[in-house]
Amino acid sequence: MKHWRLIKRYNEQIKALEELKIHILANVSHELRTPITVARGAIELAECEEDPAERAEYLNMALDALSRLGRIVDDMIGASRLMKGEIKPRFGMVNMVELINRICHDFASELKRSGITLHLRCDDTLPPVRGDRNLLMHALRNLMSNAIKFNREGGRITIQTEKGRGCVKICIADTGIGIPGDKIHRVFDVLYQIDSSPTRRYGGTGLGLAIVREIVEAHGGRVGVDSRIGRGSTFCVTLPTANDAEKS
Ligand code: ADP
Repeated sequence: MKHWRLIKRYNEQIKALEELKIHILANVSHELRTPITVARGAIELAECEEDPAERAEYLNMALDALSRLGRIVDDMIGASRLMKGEIKPRFGMVNMVELINRICHDFASELKRSGITLHLRCDDTLPPVRGDRNLLMHALRNLMSNAIKFNREGGRITIQTEKGRGCVKICIADTGIGIPGDKIHRVFDVLYQIDSSPTRRYGGTGLGLAIVREIVEAHGGRVGVDSRIGRGSTFCVTLPTANDAEKS
């Protein structure tokens, strides 16, 4: 009787893994197809365009789509390497306010295109974090990119820093669609998306937040989210400050 139960459980697990494989194939191929179609279309248009300015615009469009494709593949490779423990953080002193300013600068044109205003409430006296600058940059970029993607046209993003006891806290708040209460606990799971249907409105692979959590935890930190449907979401990252991280 005991054996039957075990076999039944294994079979259920195998079935769930099969379903996950099918989901990954469908989701990832869908995500890759969009930029490939855009790039191909733009190159075909550029080929028959005689006006040099128009041609350059089509080629830029193709380049943008190929960059997006590159980012998706980088995310997939990065996520699997992080989760396999193949990427070891290279620790140094990181000034998080400087990092935030850099990210805001990089996202400036995307924010402008989306009509989103950015409010920075950063404390210039924030103590440094002992961390890997590139990995922390990657984590904050993923949060920022979601805050733009799931925001509304003309919305707002507020980035706020806070000093805590032996730690610093960075919160990125948006005025977007929000996350349903019964699904919020799953958003950091690998490949989880609230809407993963092929007709979904927002692109993505469902890896961004899993990468954020992996990076933050590799720094001895925590990441959490608070959200209200239709009002927006706030993601907060807490990281130990350099002196405290060195002690542990
Ligand atoms: P994706 O590639 O789909 O953006 P993520 O891992 O970054 O994957 O996020 C997982 C899911 O969590 C998203 O598909 C979305 O449903 C939800 N989510 C993440 N960030 C936000 C946000 N700022 N506002 C609303 N929903 C969000």
